[in-house]
Amino acid sequence: SKGAGRGCFHIFEPGMTMETSHRSTIELELMTALNEDQFEVHYQPIVAIGEGRISGYEALVRWNHPKRGFITPDKFIPAAEETGFIVELDRWVLKQACRQMAGKDDRTTVSVNISAIGLLRQDLPDFIRATLNETGLSADRLEIEITETNKVEGKEAITILTAIRAMGVGIALDDFGTGFASLSYLIDLPVTRIKLDRRFISGVAESTRCLNIVLSTVSLARGLDISVTAEGVEYKEQLDLLRAAGCGSVQGYLLGRPQASFTEQYLGSSAA
Ligand code: C2E
Ligand code: CA
Ligand code: CA
Ligand code: CA
Repeated sequence: SKGAGRGCFHIFEPGMTMETSHRSTIELELMTALNEDQFEVHYQPIVAIGEGRISGYEALVRWNHPKRGFITPDKFIPAAEETGFIVELDRWVLKQACRQMAGKDDRTTVSVNISAIGLLRQDLPDFIRATLNETGLSADRLEIEITETNKVEGKEAITILTAIRAMGVGIALDDFGTGFASLSYLIDLPVTRIKLDRRFISGVAESTRCLNIVLSTVSLARGLDISVTAEGVEYKEQLDLLRAAGCGSVQGYLLGRPQASFTEQYLGSSAA
């Protein structure tokens, strides 16, 4: 646990009752923020290498705090995970993302982060099915991103992910390579995409080790018939190496930053 968010926010609202005081301050603040519509979903483009077009977007939550302005997820996700509020927040983001993507009349996909805690809720497949029905988004335009943690290893998570995959929803393994069980995940979980962590991408132009990890991951994924997206691509040189390595798609500031709405098309000159 990063723990960075714990104790960061201490606003005691006047009128807070005894009834609510057993909940932590941060949890109350987060719940209030959700009720008062202070969260926003931003979208970062994912570009298919070679085609030079946006193939999808990752939904990334931001807290537009009335006093503090935009707060990035690293400041409140850890606290949201500790309190369990993340389950509600992830579902809110999922619903927003499906609704907004359904209104976009093309074939692009949307990827939503689901915390391990929420992944273990047995009603997650039902929630996703209901959300797809309600918003009219077809299942193959939705992908969920899960991160390697020991929580996801159990039998329950496998059952839940298998049910979600059976609907046609994609399953991406986020921050690939930084966890401790990367390869064993690929045996048990119905993974359709690997998101190669920024750490490897940032070193790809300088370090032969990073480049070899990228090459090996692409080869591994090809053998398993799953896609690879490189995260955190910031420089043209990195993009060129990733293209040469056979990486399928790229995401990063070079291609576009997260924005409050879908960027209509990829206008960068650096990806072919
Ligand atoms: P992540 O899922 O690995 O998301 C990618 C993060 O890298 C995002 O940070 C994105 O803005 C940032 N990024 C993208 N391209 C670049 C680049 O070229 N260079 C650098 N330095 N960074 C880049 P963000 O939006 O601050 O989110 C941080 C983390 O918070 C996410 O990492 C994810 O783990 C978590 N998160 C964000 N939204 C949600 C959500 O709705 N639910 C859950 N459970 N977690 C979320
Ligand atoms: Ca992610
Ligand atoms: Ca990631
Ligand atoms: Ca991450």
